[in-house]
Amino acid sequence: MDSSDVINPATGAVFTAVPANGVTETDAAIERAQRAFMSWREVAPGDRARLLRRFAAVVDDHIEELAALEVRNSGHTIGNARWEAGNVRDVLDYYAGAPERLSGRQIPVPGGIDVTFHEPLGVVGIIVPWNFPMPIAGWGFAPALAAGNTVVLKPAEVTPLTAIRLGELALEAGLPEGVFTVIPGKGSVVGQRFVEHPAVRKVCFTGSTPVGKSIMAGCADQVKRVTLELGGKSANIVFADADLERAAATAPGGVFDNAGQDCCARSRLLVQESVYERFLSLLEPAVKAFRVQDPALDTAEMGPLISAAHRDKVASYTGDAEVAFTGEAPGGDGWWFPPTVLLARSSSDRHWREEVFGPVLSVMPFHDEAEAIELANDTEYGLSGSIWTRDLGRALRVSRGVQSGNLSVNSHSSVRYWTPFGGMKQSGLGRELGPDALLSFTDVKNVFISTDS
Ligand code: NAD
Repeated sequence: MDSSDVINPATGAVFTAVPANGVTETDAAIERAQRAFMSWREVAPGDRARLLRRFAAVVDDHIEELAALEVRNSGHTIGNARWEAGNVRDVLDYYAGAPERLSGRQIPVPGGIDVTFHEPLGVVGIIVPWNFPMPIAGWGFAPALAAGNTVVLKPAEVTPLTAIRLGELALEAGLPEGVFTVIPGKGSVVGQRFVEHPAVRKVCFTGSTPVGKSIMAGCADQVKRVTLELGGKSANIVFADADLERAAATAPGGVFDNAGQDCCARSRLLVQESVYERFLSLLEPAVKAFRVQDPALDTAEMGPLISAAHRDKVASYTGDAEVAFTGEAPGGDGWWFPPTVLLARSSSDRHWREEVFGPVLSVMPFHDEAEAIELANDTEYGLSGSIWTRDLGRALRVSRGVQSGNLSVNSHSSVRYWTPFGGMKQSGLGRELGPDALLSFTDVKNVFISTDS
């Protein structure tokens, strides 16, 4: 079998390799998952809940190990990586409550009784990107397993290690063989088989918009269910009446967290023109103070970019743009890039329109509320965004006006496992997390029972 090198992005050094599975191994794993489905769906709800809680507990026992692995493989700061491993535990615990509550309905009809069942789909294929290897895996596998499906999961080529470890921990927790299988390999091979293989009844894809479109088109052939979580170009809108100090202090975290490699990054900053200059003067020290360091240090707020190729792509956006100011980044080995703030002169500027997926913030002034909403919506994406104002009516009007799946007022919160997460427009299709995500891993079956004698 081929193998694929795993590189530490903070040093650029190869430190291990993992197998790159081919079509034969992928088909074998899917077929094992199909066989395991027959018995997993029959596991009593209380027992399935108990197994998921045990899986959560085993993850909890390995938080430090998983976090250290993510720091090394993905360059995430140790603080973020601990949160990410903890998020897998929490999402498992949250959906462990579901098997015993997955009720259908009893619908009044003449001539008998009518009941509905939420049936599991079968094998679910989950395709994960490199930017958040652990949480994005968990948002798919936890509700899928809770609803009675079995799961095959493909991590991104460059960040497979934590997913592979989670697959081992599932077995350690007592999940039966074949219920949750991690299959590292190429998207065009393993991921493509998830789309093509008829036993896979749903594909959850998180990644770039172009690949998401091709997956949706491929799934159409078998009317396969699909959830898409795609790109973003989210706006952080600061009104003149806001707590400007707090908005400026938190804006760097809203875009530079995970080195900007975050689909929810608030990468477009819209500032009301009456406070534009003042806001930039508050933002500059906050950007310069953002600590870009060895991600293993507890003090690090940002680590390196994922790869040399990605660093080149990010740099291509800053070349001829007007730079307002930048922060600091280490030199030497590794794929470092400093937090960078660019002034957008027009809404056609490339850095204003395209998803940079790096630590680059584009800034533009706006005149009034109507213009802020118009500029925020002038994008093919609609994933996330923030609104800073002390006016409650305005906060609600702008929240309703911005076409985006996840908005936060006076904060930069996007992902909370209790609430739905997903994108509008070309940012995606369907919702993950929250109370309803479970149902997207089921089909409704309606049964009518005649009471005629
Ligand atoms: P990508 O689309 O290149 O890859 C994502 C995953 O898809 C990887 O596992 C890859 O191997 C696989 N893949 C690639 N080609 C495939 C194919 N033809 N068939 C099946 N699978 C295939 O994206 P990326 O570069 O890994 O991730 C960055 C992108 O992901 C960004 O655009 C970002 O916005 C997006 N993203 C979105 C969310 C969200 O929730 N909306 C979250 C994280 C990342």
